[in-house]
Amino acid sequence: MEQRQNPLILTIDDEENIRDSFRLFLEDFEYNVIEAANGREGIDIIQKKKPDLVLCDLRMPDVDGLQVLQFIKENTPDIPIIVVSGTGVIGDAIEAIRHGAWNYLLKPIQDMSVLLHAISQALERSRLIVENRAYQEHLEEEVGRRTEALQKTMRDLNHSHRKSKENEEKYRLIFENLQDVYFEILLDGTLYEISPSISHFSLYQREEILGNNIAGIFPSTQSRDRLMSLLRREETVTDYEIYLRDKDSTLIPCSLNARYRETQGRGPDKICGTLRDITERKQAEARIEYLAYFDALTELPNRRLLLDRLEQNISRAHRHNHYGAMLFLDLDRFKNINDSLGHPVGDALLKEVAKRLTIDLRAEDTVSRLGGDEFVMLLSDLGPEPVDAATVAQQKAEAIQRRLAEKYQIAEHILHITPSIGVAMFPTGEEGHETGDDILRYADTAMYRAKDDGRDTIRFFLPSMQSAADERLAIEKELRYAMEKNQLSLFFQPQVDTLGNIVGAETLIRWKHPQKGFISPATFIPVAEATGLILPIGEWVLHSACEYLKTWEDSGLQIHHLAVNVSPRQFRQPDFVRQVCAILEDTGANPKLLGLELTEGMVIDNVIDTIEKMRALKQLGIELSIDDFGTGYSSLAYLQQMPLDILKIDQSFVRDIASDANDVVIVDTIISMANHLELKVIAEGVETELELACLAEKGCKLYQGYHFSRPVPDSQFTEQLRAGTVFS
Ligand code: C2E
Ligand code: CA
Ligand code: CA
Repeated sequence: MEQRQNPLILTIDDEENIRDSFRLFLEDFEYNVIEAANGREGIDIIQKKKPDLVLCDLRMPDVDGLQVLQFIKENTPDIPIIVVSGTGVIGDAIEAIRHGAWNYLLKPIQDMSVLLHAISQALERSRLIVENRAYQEHLEEEVGRRTEALQKTMRDLNHSHRKSKENEEKYRLIFENLQDVYFEILLDGTLYEISPSISHFSLYQREEILGNNIAGIFPSTQSRDRLMSLLRREETVTDYEIYLRDKDSTLIPCSLNARYRETQGRGPDKICGTLRDITERKQAEARIEYLAYFDALTELPNRRLLLDRLEQNISRAHRHNHYGAMLFLDLDRFKNINDSLGHPVGDALLKEVAKRLTIDLRAEDTVSRLGGDEFVMLLSDLGPEPVDAATVAQQKAEAIQRRLAEKYQIAEHILHITPSIGVAMFPTGEEGHETGDDILRYADTAMYRAKDDGRDTIRFFLPSMQSAADERLAIEKELRYAMEKNQLSLFFQPQVDTLGNIVGAETLIRWKHPQKGFISPATFIPVAEATGLILPIGEWVLHSACEYLKTWEDSGLQIHHLAVNVSPRQFRQPDFVRQVCAILEDTGANPKLLGLELTEGMVIDNVIDTIEKMRALKQLGIELSIDDFGTGYSSLAYLQQMPLDILKIDQSFVRDIASDANDVVIVDTIISMANHLELKVIAEGVETELELACLAEKGCKLYQGYHFSRPVPDSQFTEQLRAGTVFS
């Protein structure tokens, strides 16, 4: 507590005149004086006013001077108190000093300067004490602060010591258990340090190679030199690929990260780094690289690599003025095999075809699989004469045709397959250079022509063919609007018995194009199938057919069976059966009169699902037939499980029945098989009296074909129905 400018002095005395004399005297010396008439009052003021000094009488009634002293000693010991007493008893003085009085003056005070001196002395002492205390406190505080700082430093030190121990431990653990290899190399190539992990991917133990020159483990001088010069230039290298030679001389591909470390005198300069075995990464990269350019199934170059080589070939042909050829192969009816015998068999067949295609392949030629059952062969450098070159290409194509036609034994199956081959020669002599894509498209177009011309055929590309290919594209475009614009209609082809009585009919779709006239379903159905347009078209056909059924029934016309062709894609829809139900309900047609024609391929694909759908359809009362029977590879075992009603003998057998002994046997077999399975048989495409006679002789009872009637529009068919026969 700091003293006031004019110290405040409290006088406690029960004698008023004494208090007055003190006050009058002291006020002359710039002291402020307050008074208390007894001890109790004094203590009260001490508490409230905190005087700088107290002058106190000893003997007072009630609370006496000793009690005041006691109070000050216990509560405010810094306030100097001077006892001014009338008792000259020495015992009183001693008692007062013991109780904490700073001085003892006798009353009456003869010389007031004694009082003055005692007061200033006490005040000075008090000031010193306070100052000293403050200094002490400051000192203690300072010491406390320093100690605290010291302790913190100690704690930090301890912590960092522990940390560094931990780090050391950690690094040791990492060093010892590193998957990657840590190493240090001196600038002369000495292996200065290497982690034990070197044994993880090499046969070396750490100790075996420590101290050796790295030339022992990195055998390529070129790689080492390049690494060093990189480090000198850049100070660090990352993912530097280098081969490590193992104890048994195996080369292990490694990725190296390293940093050049100058130690400025603290130990030798060195290169520190890590090494990682990247064998797996390399294999994956190689695989990716391979897959990018090769077909995984046959291991033949893929389209990308083929186009690369083709481009090179075209520009070389231009430079050297010679011809090359592109052969485009598509396997006929491959889909049948895939569908009926399953993909594993199809895949095995494709592999075998690939193998046969590469027999006698010249180094400069390329065989490639584009996907599915499409292969191409690129023949380079067929000489400067166009006719000679084309002849060589033709011969090569024929050789392939022969080789692929030989039978295949795949698992327990004996298979036959033929290719349709399109050939495009290059350069074509057209203005400007054609691209690889152009040539490929030309060959593809020629292949389509080969297919159209009866399969197992070779066709050369002619510019006129391109327009046919363009046509296909145009069909796709226009087909989208055909339905909306009412260009589609249904024709009906009667199914008859030997006498020509109508027992049913097949619904056949017709597309009347406003400019192109009738477009054959054989042309646009495959396009619709490929684009998915077959779904709305198929639904429309079914709906219209059912409407006809209802109309005929309502007008009393007798028809026992109206067959509708169902495309594979349509049938595979999960809700196909529900669609049929909905259409039947919507039109009110009698399901017992409706038939659906399915193909072998689609019933063999996913047998369980198919049988389920077929059962559900039969449950509705619908009759099911297998279309184009004999062209697929269906086995009897499957057919026995199918809830079928009718087999339709494909017209290709009917066509040759009068001349081809083989076909006679096949038709014979189909008919007896159908009898065995209690199925009806309808022969398709019956054109002549002779064919009819042959079929009848084999026991066939139902027919369809131009001999009886072409497919006809509804009005004409209604006439036929009314007559009940096609001969009228
Ligand atoms: P398909 O189901 O085998 O139909 C029989 C085809 O043979 C019909 O050809 C028919 O006109 C023709 N044809 C009938 N009798 C004779 C004959 O005595 N001689 C010859 N040479 N041909 C005969 P079309 O109408 O051109 O149909 C071709 C194919 O298009 C059909 O073959 C069928 O697969 C498909 N198709 C036709 N309409 C539809 C349809 O509504 N939906 C589906 N998904 N496909 C259809
Ligand atoms: Ca049909
Ligand atoms: Ca057919």
